[in-house]
Amino acid sequence: MEDLFALRPELQNSPVDRLIRGRASAFESAALNFRFAVTPYYLSLASLETIGPIWKQILPDEKEAADPLFQQPDPLAEESHMPVPGLTHRYPDRVLWYLSHNCAVYCRFCMRKRKVSREDSAPNVEARKAALDYIRSHTEIQEAILSGGDPLSQSDAVLASCIQELKEIPHLVSVRIHTRMPVTCPQRITDSFCQMIQELSPVTLVTHFNHPVELSDTALEALGRLRKTGNLILNQSVLLAGVNDNAETQRSLNLALLKAGVKPYYLHQCDEVKGVSHFRVNLETGVNIQKELRGRIPGPAMPLYVIDLPGGGGKVPVDSSYFVDGDYPDPVFENFQGDLFFPLGDQP
Ligand SMILES: *Cc1c(COP(=O)(O)O)cnc(C)c1O
Ligand code: SF4
Repeated sequence: MEDLFALRPELQNSPVDRLIRGRASAFESAALNFRFAVTPYYLSLASLETIGPIWKQILPDEKEAADPLFQQPDPLAEESHMPVPGLTHRYPDRVLWYLSHNCAVYCRFCMRKRKVSREDSAPNVEARKAALDYIRSHTEIQEAILSGGDPLSQSDAVLASCIQELKEIPHLVSVRIHTRMPVTCPQRITDSFCQMIQELSPVTLVTHFNHPVELSDTALEALGRLRKTGNLILNQSVLLAGVNDNAETQRSLNLALLKAGVKPYYLHQCDEVKGVSHFRVNLETGVNIQKELRGRIPGPAMPLYVIDLPGGGGKVPVDSSYFVDGDYPDPVFENFQGDLFFPLGDQP
C-alpha cells in the first residue's frame, strides 16, 4: 500500500488518504489470493477526493475474502470445458485462448480471479503448440479469441507468431484479441504493436472501458493509433455497483466510445464469481438502465446487455426472449441450445 503513496505523492494528506489507509487489512487479506497492481498512468486517473470509479476497480476490499453470496471460483465452468490446457471450447464455433494470466492492473471484479495474477499459469511454447494443434484439428472452430489475463502482457513477437499461425488455419474466419491495455496502460499500444496488427489485419480488437473517466486523452490517442490500423475495434464493459450502474454514466461512456470510433459491443452482467458479489447490480436495475438509454443515444452506441449463464450455458441477452420467466429476482433463462439456467438474480 505504501507503494501507492510513493507512485503518486499527491495522495499524501489528500481526502482519500485516510480512506485508502482504512483498507490496510484488505490489502493483506484479499491481495493474498488476487494480487494488487496498478500502473502509474491508471493511478493518475483516480480521484483525490473520494473512492470513485477508478479506486473501486483497483482497491482491495475485505468483502472479497468473505463473499456471502457467490461461492464458486469458476461459475462459468471454463476449466471443465478445457480440452487442452489454456483453451476453453464452450461454444461449438469459438475458442478462448488464454495467452497470459498477467495484467497491467488487477481489476477487483475480475471473473478469472482463480488464476489471473498467478505468474505460473501462462502457457509455455509447448502449451501454445498444443492449443494451435487443437484449433487446427477442429474444423468446426471459426473464431479464436486471444484472452487472459491480458494477452498484450505477452511480447509482440509471441503475439505475432500466434496470430500468424492462426491466420494460416483455413477454417478460421476470425481472430479476436480481448485486452484492457488501452484502458490501464495505453503506452502498451506502441507503434510497433500497431504495425504488427496492421500487417496481420483483419483482426478484431475488444477493449474494456467501464467508465468515461478512463477515456483520457492518453487513452483516446491509443485508440486513435489502433483505429489507424484499419481493424475493427469494439468495447465490452461490466455493469459494476458504484462504478457505472446508472443511466447517466452508461450514456457518457457509450457516447464517448462512439465518438472515439469504438463500437460498444457488450455490457456484461457481473459473473457469480466468489469474491465479487459486492460489485453485482441486480438484473432489474440493469434492464431499467437499458430502457433509459434505448432511443436516447444513437443505435451504434448501444451495447447489448448480456449475462453469461452459470454452469457454462454461454452468454445470452438479458432483456429478450431468452428470459423465459420475468419474475425478478429469480429469473429463469434459456440458452442458445434451449437449456434452462437459474442465475442468482438479486444482490445479497
Ligand atoms: C464470451 C465467450 C466467447 C465469446 O462470445 P461472443 O458472444 O462471440 O463474444 C467465447 N467463448 C467463451 C467460453 C466465452 O465465455
Ligand atoms: S484486465 Fe481483465 S483479466 Fe485482467 S484483472 Fe482485469 S478483468 Fe481480470
